[in-house]
Amino acid sequence: MPTKKAAKARQAAAKPAAPKRAPAKAASAAAAAKSGVARRKRFLAKVRESLDEMKTRLLSEMDSDLKAEREGNKDEGMDTYDLASEERDREINFILSDRERVKIKQIDDALERLDEGTYGVCESCGLEIGEERLQAMPFTRLCRDCQQDQEREARTQRRYEDERNVYRKLGSTDNEEESG
Ligand SMILES: [Zn+2]
Repeated sequence: MPTKKAAKARQAAAKPAAPKRAPAKAASAAAAAKSGVARRKRFLAKVRESLDEMKTRLLSEMDSDLKAEREGNKDEGMDTYDLASEERDREINFILSDRERVKIKQIDDALERLDEGTYGVCESCGLEIGEERLQAMPFTRLCRDCQQDQEREARTQRRYEDERNVYRKLGSTDNEEESG
């Protein structure tokens, strides 16, 4: 029996073999993180693609609106628009509805954040925003948790203000009763 114990103790003492494993684990974790990063990169590349498409579609719709306005209903296809022209930009801006302008601005902002590497990172907590959420709301700047926190805070704030108004009203009736 004691020899078994001693053997166990020796085994325990001989554990420095463990660090041999750790680097392997760390390496696989690093590899996992690396593949996570690569995956995210691919995802963000897709996001950029779809934002570019969205913008192109929006601009070409606007451009064909512009053409329709200028040349009646003459259908020329959409291959001839040249967005570089400053004059054209001015004209497009002129006929842009606010809604379209907001949309373009959102797309440009998102593309800028993609360039900066801040796209898809929650502005509040700094964690990555989930892919599903970004697919559903490509312009969001907050992760779901932070968005919910903000909404809850806004609700609490509203409730607090409502209560204050109620108290103020009650207070004023009290005062009126007292004075009257
Ligand atoms: Zn967050």
